[in-house]
Order: sequence, then structure tokens, then C-alpha cells
Amino acid sequence: MAIPYDFVIIGGGPGGTPTAMALATAGRRILLVEKGNGLGGTCLFEGCIPSKIFRESARRLRELRESEAFGLRKASSEVQVDWPTILQRKQAILERRSRAALMRITHIGGLDYRQGTARFITPRRIEVITADGTREEIDFDQAIVATGSIPKHPPIEGADLPGVIDSEALLDAEAIPASLGIIGGGPIGVELGQIFHTLGSQVAILEAAPHILGPVDEELSAQLTQDMRTAGIAIETGSRVQAISAHGDGLAIDYRNSAGEERQQVVSTVLLVTGRRPNVDGLGLENTAVAHDTHGISVDAELQTSEPGIYAVGDVVGQPMFAHWATAQGLALARHLLGLPTAFPTPATNSAAIFSDPELAMAGLTEAQARAAGMDVGVARYDFRQDARAQIAGRDNGLLKIVYRKADHGIVGVHALVEGAADLMGEAAILVKTGLPLEAVASAIHPHPTLTESFAVAARMALSQEAMRVGNE
Ligand SMILES: Cc1cc2nc3c(=O)[nH]c(=O)nc-3n(C[C@H](O)[C@H](O)[C@H](O)COP(=O)(O)OP(=O)(O)OC[C@H]3O[C@@H](n4cnc5c(N)ncnc54)[C@H](O)[C@@H]3O)c2cc1C
Repeated sequence: MAIPYDFVIIGGGPGGTPTAMALATAGRRILLVEKGNGLGGTCLFEGCIPSKIFRESARRLRELRESEAFGLRKASSEVQVDWPTILQRKQAILERRSRAALMRITHIGGLDYRQGTARFITPRRIEVITADGTREEIDFDQAIVATGSIPKHPPIEGADLPGVIDSEALLDAEAIPASLGIIGGGPIGVELGQIFHTLGSQVAILEAAPHILGPVDEELSAQLTQDMRTAGIAIETGSRVQAISAHGDGLAIDYRNSAGEERQQVVSTVLLVTGRRPNVDGLGLENTAVAHDTHGISVDAELQTSEPGIYAVGDVVGQPMFAHWATAQGLALARHLLGLPTAFPTPATNSAAIFSDPELAMAGLTEAQARAAGMDVGVARYDFRQDARAQIAGRDNGLLKIVYRKADHGIVGVHALVEGAADLMGEAAILVKTGLPLEAVASAIHPHPTLTESFAVAARMALSQEAMRVGNE
């Protein structure tokens, strides 16, 4: 019997779905299997989108509170948070986006979709079990695993107590927690911490590393830490959580601070956001030669696993774990499998946005990463306190840094802390990918008044400093 599918793709998130669409559009016979209630993955149902929907409510609340400084006087000073309406708005957007994704794939010939849980039973056959228990065995020529990641639960005593939740549960919480003790100061902890703080929770973040947000530019992370503390969020870096225990109606987090002193934080809810682990649970990889460890499925530079004909993309292959990265890997893999010339994405040209308040976003390498890679680099800087657009918005506390090679002024990294930084990074990613020199940025005409002017001003200042430096040598 003929093999029914050229490719089976397991997981309908930002990694699997665009890959399936690209291969089917090019004429391949595709089966996309997704165990959840719709297409979109963690990003749509438990990650990027719901968190940004909540952030939007928090941002508008903040603006309402600050409106008098903009000459807008309210009849009453009280603005109330209507949490059920925020949840309903979130649900409506998720359903609309999931329906749209399903509509898009049903119009592509050659792309079949099954809602069910897939498991390898041999390297060329899967079983799919649907919610009603129906079991089907399906043969394929090649497979792509895009099963994403799930929250990593640290081995902390008391982590299984009621009231200790992960990001998924917080995004579906019935009420805004009175107080939130967040264990983990990565992007998810910082984003959710600021959102719930604005919406009314008392927030304390405990982070084991010396800085929040991991490997981002240290100066920007230090400035954001300071802004968050000024706003009233407690942040303890270098702290080690020892145990969580019941404490009256709430929970007590016992930890050792950076000075080694025993401390306790009492909260109503504990949010565990100490990272995510690749999701290989129940996939039947033991029935294949696909190698994997705690960092994820092992793949080579062309996303091929150790089982010939089985590939993997997105969170399931480990860091970096971002939706756009999963999509970039999937689309590159699709090109490669179609026999087209392909440049696979590399971390050195990736971009990322942390939807903190203000946003902290980046493309390419930090100054420290560039130096560690042996590059002789300079940094063009711009302080948003001088920026017209940022002053108009009343959000001028921020910084832009452009990292460039001294030899040819080619740009290798862009980092910004300012409200609007996330939207600047798509274009910054082009600068980094093409290695455009500062001269090109300095001479391009940027519209006024926009945050993009910061790029031109920073580049011009750095070029005049470079000219002086070379003149003095
Ligand atoms: C709170 C939060 C906020 C985030 N914010 C952002 C952000 O702002 N920007 C950003 O870029 N990233 C963000 N992320 C990360 C982003 O969600 C992930 O990087 C992205 O979803 C990874 O895509 P993926 O396709 O690899 O996996 P996923 O999106 O996890 O999709 C995997 C899919 O596979 C399905 N699946 C798993 N096993 C099986 C099986 N055996 N059979 C069938 N189906 C299966 C799952 O149901 C899931 O739908 C956030 C994450 C979280 C948790």
C-alpha cells in the first residue's frame, strides 16, 4: 500500500503549523496532528497572546491613572479592574485566532489535520488517539516533531501545595491574587509580575541569578530592576528558595538572600516560573533512535535528529524558546526539505522582546557576547530622555545601545529599553542579519518624531567618536 503522507508533523504551535503549511503549499502530502483544542500551541493558548492581552489591560489602567499629567481630569479618581471581562476578552481573541488558523489550513490542498495525541510506534508509523478514544495508525515517509515545552517544576519542598501555580494557571486564574510571590525572574516572571502588580497584586520576585532576565544586556536589566523596585515590586536577586509551606490563609516562602541570611516572604499565591522543559512526554521516542536529554531533542545544524528522516523544531529542541524562533526554524526546515537553498537561523541573528514595562527588546549579540566571541566592538548609545517621541508619551526613561564592529562599523547587536522597543526590533534584526554599517543607519532618513530617530542619532554620535579616536591614534 502507498504511504499516505510525505510528512507527519506533530504539534500545531508556531513551529509545526507554518511548517505544515509551507510543505503542503509546495505540493507535499501532510498530516498535522495537534492534541489540544485548536491550532496555536503554547503561544496562543498559554503564552505570548494571553499574557499580552492582560498586559494591554494593565497598560491602559496605568495610562488612566496617569492621565491627569496629560491634562485629562477624571470625574472620579477610582478606576476598577473588571477581571471577568478581561478573561472574556482574552477568550474571545484566542478563539478568533484559533478559528482563523484552522480556516487557513483547511484551504490548503494536501494538508490533513487530526485533533489527537500522536505517538511513534516505529520510526515510520505513528498512532493517533483522539479525545473520544479512537485509535488510528498512520504511516509516513518523514516526520517533524514540534511538540513544544511545558513548565519545569523545581524540586522545592512544598511546590505541590494548593496555591502554588505555574504561568498556565495564572493566565486562567479566577481572581487577581492579593499577593504573588514569583519564583524565577526570567521574561515570564517579570512580565507577569509587572502586569499583576499594575492590576493590584503585591508582588515579590525571587531570582537565584545575580540579575533578572538572564542573558540580556546587563545595563538595561539593571535599569529595569531599578524601575520595578521604584514602582513597588520587591526583587531579590541571588536568593535561593528553600521551601514553601502553608501559612494561615496563604503560603510562606523560605529563602536565603544574597548575603546568606534566612528570609521569609508570606503571600497568597506562589507563581513558579523557573523555566520550561522540552515536551517529549508520551511521544514514543523510545521506539525510534531520536536522542534527547533535559535540554531537548538533539538535532544537527539542519534540524535532523539522530533518527534519519525525523526532524525537530521549536521549543522541543531547547533554547532559545520563542515563538518567532520556532517559526523561523520550521520555515527554514521546510525550504531545506523542498531542496531549496536555505540559511538556517542562528542565535547571533535572533531577535527577542520582553514585554516588561517599559519593553526590553534585542536583536543579535550583547556587547559581552560579542567580546566573548572575540570581536573588537564599540557601542553607540542613545538616552531616550532626549527623545521627542518618548517625552511626548511621558515614557522617556530608557536607553538604546547599538553594538558594532570597530573595524568596519558593521552592526552585530541592538538593545533597547523603552516603551515601543519590541516594535523597533524587527527592523533592527535586518540591520544585524545584513551587518549594515553605522554609516547606512546614520544617513537613512528617519521620520520625526519617532523612536526610530534614536538609531540615526546614536549612529552619528558613535561615528564622530570613532573619527576622533582614529584621528588620535
Ligand atoms: C507565559 C508565556 C509567555 C510567552 N511569551 C512569548 C512572547 O511574548 N514571544 C515569544 O516569542 N514567545 C513567548 N513565549 C514562548 C512561546 O510560547 C514558545 O516559544 C512557542 O509557543 C514555541 O512554539 P512550538 O511550536 O515550539 O511549541 P508550542 O507552542 O508549545 O506547541 C506545541 C504543540 O504541540 C502539541 N503537542 C504536544 N505533544 C503532542 C502530541 N504527542 N501529539 C499531538 N500534539 C502534541 C501541544 O498541544 C502544542 O499545541 C511565551 C511562553 C509563555 C509560557
